Amino acid sequence: MKSMLIRNAIIVSQDINRSVFRGNILIEGNRIAYTGPEEKGADEIIDGTGSIAMPGMINTHCHVAMTHLRGQIDDVPLSSFLERTFKLDGERTEKGLYNSALLGIREMVHSGVTSFLDLYYSEDVIARAVEKAGIRGFLAWNTLDEDKTTQKGNPVKNAHHFIGEFRGRDLVTPAIGVQGIYVAGDETYLSALDVADREDTIIHGHLAETREEVYNFVKASKGERPIEHLSKIGFLGPRFIAAHSVWATLNEVRLLSKASASVSWNPVSNAKLGVGGIAPIPEYLNNGVTVSIGSDSTASNNSQDVISSMKFGSIWVKNDRWNPASTNAQMLLDMVTVNAAASLKRKDIGVIAPGMLADIVLMDAGNPRMAPTTISNAVSNIVYSADTSCVSDVIVNGVILKRGGSLLRPAYEDLPFEDYN
Ligand SMILES: [Zn+2]
Repeated sequence: MKSMLIRNAIIVSQDINRSVFRGNILIEGNRIAYTGPEEKGADEIIDGTGSIAMPGMINTHCHVAMTHLRGQIDDVPLSSFLERTFKLDGERTEKGLYNSALLGIREMVHSGVTSFLDLYYSEDVIARAVEKAGIRGFLAWNTLDEDKTTQKGNPVKNAHHFIGEFRGRDLVTPAIGVQGIYVAGDETYLSALDVADREDTIIHGHLAETREEVYNFVKASKGERPIEHLSKIGFLGPRFIAAHSVWATLNEVRLLSKASASVSWNPVSNAKLGVGGIAPIPEYLNNGVTVSIGSDSTASNNSQDVISSMKFGSIWVKNDRWNPASTNAQMLLDMVTVNAAASLKRKDIGVIAPGMLADIVLMDAGNPRMAPTTISNAVSNIVYSADTSCVSDVIVNGVILKRGGSLLRPAYEDLPFEDYN
């Protein structure tokens, strides 16, 4: 078994005590075997002097095969945005999906994302890009009512088939999704949940993203709000990761909490699409809802990193609440590591500790944005000072994907330069 030692780094472990200490990390195969003061021998040594070692970041909401739309659908409301993307979705080829996914994955690896939760159709194609690139992909095959989809066949059956085909892989974890209440009725929601229950997967979907979506639903259902409705039909539960959930009342926050559902907050996408409100993050956290962070697609972000979202989201809440103490750096770092792992029902990622999978990011503390970095300000510097240029090394499943600032995988010759549609 191949071993690797990261020596003498400031380790932001994200363990139960949120320990930050200077030390060494021994990786054996795809797992962390040791962390601490001893400098163990290994086949490969990475000098971590001048670096922060942190758990690989987890992006809990994106549509990676839409990366080719970067800069193509800016500055329009969500309704026109969706109309445009749905039209484009219907015209895509397998090669285009694969190439676009590979581009998005490349950006995530570059920016220190080691796991992502994707929501799209044709996740079997995206799974191939995940395995080629070596990132960890949680892939939720999107469903919606059969009369509203461009998918061939029944979306729930397609998702079920995908889960059966891809379960038990190393890097790919299949799951099921539901696009949103504007294209999915109760039957779709409940049959998707049934698949998730039977196959023991998570279930992912957009929820309460814009005021218009909530307004239209309330009008059509004579006063019932989307989260209230999903609670009433028995859909909400611990398997569910809701993306956005911007327009939630305190009652709805409590319903999500009672059901142990979690929220993927997408602050950059929400603000760029001008959804108007801000997700009630302090209320979610105070009511025990697990909050993680998603980028959403490059059409609405336009990046796939979560570093920019940590800073932007955090300062947006502070400003909205007239209170700089309404969030803190540790809360945000938790969102992209341990909270995300908990939402995905994984106990083996999001923390640097013996026994965990070796998904590790090194940040260059000597980068002008980060200096000076010490044990006492490392967490703050990651959240408020870093950008993706500070990510020097990225390891997923014990394999180095980025080294000394250069991407090793996906390899240059694997990268697509045409045919994204
Ligand atoms: Zn989305």
